[in-house]
Amino acid sequence: MRPPSVDALARSLADTGLPHPLLVDAARAAIADGDPGEVEERARRHAHAAARALLQPVVNATGVLLHTNLGRAPLAVATEAAYANLELDLSSGRRGSRHAHAAALLARLCEAEDAIVVNNGASAVLLVLAALATGRGAAVSRGELVEIGGGFRVPEVMEQSGARLVEVGTTNRTRLADFASAVENPANDTALALKVHQSNYRIVGFTEHVTVAEMSTLDVPVVADIGSGLVDAACPWLGDGPPAWLTGEPAARQTLDDGAALITFSGDKLFGGPQAGIIAGRADLVRRCAQHPLARALRPGSLVLSALQQVALAYLRRDGQAIDFWRMASLTTADLEERAQAMVKESGVGEAAQMASVPGGGTLPGTEINSCGVVLDGDHTASLRAGSPPIIARVSDGRTWLDLRTVAPDDDRHVIAALKALG
Ligand SMILES: *Cc1c(COP(=O)(O)O)cnc(C)c1O
Repeated sequence: MRPPSVDALARSLADTGLPHPLLVDAARAAIADGDPGEVEERARRHAHAAARALLQPVVNATGVLLHTNLGRAPLAVATEAAYANLELDLSSGRRGSRHAHAAALLARLCEAEDAIVVNNGASAVLLVLAALATGRGAAVSRGELVEIGGGFRVPEVMEQSGARLVEVGTTNRTRLADFASAVENPANDTALALKVHQSNYRIVGFTEHVTVAEMSTLDVPVVADIGSGLVDAACPWLGDGPPAWLTGEPAARQTLDDGAALITFSGDKLFGGPQAGIIAGRADLVRRCAQHPLARALRPGSLVLSALQQVALAYLRRDGQAIDFWRMASLTTADLEERAQAMVKESGVGEAAQMASVPGGGTLPGTEINSCGVVLDGDHTASLRAGSPPIIARVSDGRTWLDLRTVAPDDDRHVIAALKALG
């Protein structure tokens, strides 16, 4: 039997909706795979694999609010093709600055003199160190030389920035006097003191650490990498104030109040926005960051800036319900239970059960938030993932758990359809 031509095979897959060059790749791969007998079926499998590798919306039923594999904070971005006043000052008609929009709102929000936006939290720290401490010392407690998920290692970022690491104190105990002697030692040529939030781990027992307020009495600026971007410890955007599970998380406003000269944080953790890194604080230091050559390499475009602006405006309106992360985080178990029961009734599959969501994303380790969802016997994660849209669930104790806290109510119908298909 003669194999079909690559082109004919590719054309026979047109119903998959993939562009022709990708179908040609699928056809070639299928022909290379082996005997001509089932070549069409194999080509279709290759085409499906290519379609499933595309970035696409998924239903997050894991209960992990900031799921690293699912892009951390959920975000609604609906944009039509349009120009934007990214670098145009609409009042003067002259060239403007891309820092005039989201960054200005973020500064207002954090009550900082100024702010700039870069691509992620790691680039924020990199840029601050490069702009303020290249060729000089940056003092950090040995207890904060951390690695945060995905290979952000403080000593390595420091090295890349050209700043010299000045290690202070010990792994479990660091005192203000340790910082003071490091800063006073002329051999260290200390440009700044860096405080890094431990984010995804805790040191317990015989410990001592230096607060930002204490560090701010040193003769050098204090840079605090607060990590997750909680804007204000009082959570004024939530009707009921801060949830109990948030305790101990450093917040932007309070860290600046405590005397940090600069703070850095991610846009897509507790801030609830797009992947971005924010640097906020003293205007002269922010300006030095903005003028450093790396700033251009690390700057985001208008898609990210407009998404960030939308979230910043929601915070300024104190409208936590408009920020998906906070809307989901503050759902009551009663609401979730009602949805779970409706789902079980409609699909005839599984049972409603209490479960625990987690903030995730390398924030608040060990923290659980009471939740509710649907549980079924056996591991059905592969079938759920194969659906359209894919549904991502969790397995434990030989059962499949679908936590509804992280599922948008509009997606309940997709979950119901998927459960029916299992039943
Ligand atoms: C998450 C985190 C980072 C890295 O931020 P990305 O946005 O992932 O690059 C850096 N520092 C701290 C303290 C963090 O929590």
